[in-house]
Amino acid sequence: MLDLLNTLSDDANAFNADHQAVLNAVMTATDDAIITQDLNDNIMSWNPAAERLFGYTSLEALGQPISIIVPSERSAEQRYINGQISKGKKVDRFETICLTKPGTQKLISINVAPIYITERVIVGAAIVARDISERRSEDEKQATLTAIVSTSDDAIVSKTLQGIITSWNPAAEKLFGYTEQEVIGKHISLIIPQDRLQEENFIIDQVAQGRKVDQFETVRRTKDGRDIHLSITVSPVTDPSGRVIGASIIGKDLSATKQFREKQGMLAALISSSDDTIVSKTLDGKITSWNRAAERMFGYTAAEALGQHISLIIPTERLNEETFIIGQVSKGNKVDHFETVRVSKDGRSIPISLSVSPIIDENGQIIGASKIARDISEQVAMQEEKARLYDEIKALNDKKDEFIGLASHELKTPLTSIQAYLQILNGELSDERRKEFLRRATHQVKKLNSLVSDLLDISKIHAGELRFDPAPFDLHQLALDAIELISAANRQYSIDFNTDVKTIIVQGDPQRIEQVILNLLTNAIRYSNNNHQIDVYLSIDSDVAKVAVQDRGIGIPADKLEQIFSRFYRVGENKNVSGLGLGLYLSQYIIDRHGGRIWAESQPGEGSVFYFTLPIEKK
Ligand code: ADP
Repeated sequence: MLDLLNTLSDDANAFNADHQAVLNAVMTATDDAIITQDLNDNIMSWNPAAERLFGYTSLEALGQPISIIVPSERSAEQRYINGQISKGKKVDRFETICLTKPGTQKLISINVAPIYITERVIVGAAIVARDISERRSEDEKQATLTAIVSTSDDAIVSKTLQGIITSWNPAAEKLFGYTEQEVIGKHISLIIPQDRLQEENFIIDQVAQGRKVDQFETVRRTKDGRDIHLSITVSPVTDPSGRVIGASIIGKDLSATKQFREKQGMLAALISSSDDTIVSKTLDGKITSWNRAAERMFGYTAAEALGQHISLIIPTERLNEETFIIGQVSKGNKVDHFETVRVSKDGRSIPISLSVSPIIDENGQIIGASKIARDISEQVAMQEEKARLYDEIKALNDKKDEFIGLASHELKTPLTSIQAYLQILNGELSDERRKEFLRRATHQVKKLNSLVSDLLDISKIHAGELRFDPAPFDLHQLALDAIELISAANRQYSIDFNTDVKTIIVQGDPQRIEQVILNLLTNAIRYSNNNHQIDVYLSIDSDVAKVAVQDRGIGIPADKLEQIFSRFYRVGENKNVSGLGLGLYLSQYIIDRHGGRIWAESQPGEGSVFYFTLPIEKK
């Protein structure tokens, strides 16, 4: 370069040969690329370091425009530097990108200075360029590291070998409650519980010998005095010569993990000691857990069952159930109280009730199914026994009904002939005393006949054979007839008929409706408690005819008002009045079949009113 400068210079004496030799040596030996250029941007000198940095030999570079090493998009920078030079100014540590001969780009830092030949005349510029790509990547590394440390969820702390804290990241602040300012320069024992101080000696000892202490589980104390479980990893920090100068500590908070482990332990204990069979499996049916109750129920040990397909315990004909269950579970659904059958190791069928739930991992993915199975053999046996008993009782009941039917039928025939003979006898007798006896006998036979008729009706209802012969009839007339009939046989009673209506035509079996009214009237007399006033009401209530029979007798307790219509039901208090408890049952059946309603209202001790309605025949 100096040769060239000399050529440019009119005053060659300004340089002496020694000086030049020194400069030459420096130019050759230096690691910095040194280039000179004239004011037209042509390269005038090019040292070996420039050859290495830019890839051009000095032969290739000399005389070329400097732009061969300037990326086109940076020509503005070049103009700026030239501007500075022409003003006689230096440009220092200018970081830019250059272009090399192979076409790669490199990060360089350049110093540019004007070349004066006299005090005022500038003939060119000297450029000293240094490759800083590596330095930059070191900087980047450092920056990345700093970023990692400051954003890490783990507490990262460093300290000297004497235990003095030298760095403290935000996670450490959060975990221990001390800010960076509070702890830098303090001793690490600040966060070590008294009884664990000797641990620190051990750790420092290891680190000083260049060893790492990996995942050491311990306890540290926070600013507010809480003890926290940590896993710490301590590594030696070395200087460039490899000497250990301190330690870096990474602390992981284990409290959550520890709680999780405890919970898991508890859960595992619970499952294993549970009386319910608990089994889990993957979505493709592989058994992944098998508790003791499962061992007892199915006869396979955990060792035998684990890893096997669940079809191990599913009867072949029920394999499709498994497809259904897995289908539900994969959709995230539970299958509850699914009653099915499984087979034990020794081939026994076990009726069970299954509850299956999806197993969901921490990412919300369904990874399997857990099943709780309960042995329901006993329930099933009980249900079967119940069903058997029910059938037995029903068969007995049917037999009883059959017997009642048969008996009442058989009783009816002789009764009818007794009644007929009594009637004939009545015509033959003139003696009043005998006639009175005959009248009483006839009365008793009628009572017996009515009882037998009721029994016969009951068995007919049961056999579905009770027939109705429906026809339109006048309910007003029917009620009058019934009242007359009862009054004639019970002269001491005053039965009043209260009504505003003359005729009410209803559709039905008049004999059966008469049976109902007669039954209500005889009840009113039988339970009258010697109060001889009875009232019958007939009215029209919107589209129904309503009949009411009122007595002033013993009455019925409120809680029995519904029951009296049941078959064979009799209110306990009036056992002195004989009866079978069939009249109201039959009445209700008859009124129901006619599309009406029957009910009672009563005040014990004051009397009862029995009502029934019938739809009115539409004109
Ligand atoms: P029975 O009168 O033959 O026992 P019912 O079916 O006619 O059968 O009546 C059932 C029960 O209802 C009677 O036993 C009686 O306890 C009660 N009962 C029925 N009618 C009256 C009434 N008018 N007053 C009080 N209790 C009555």
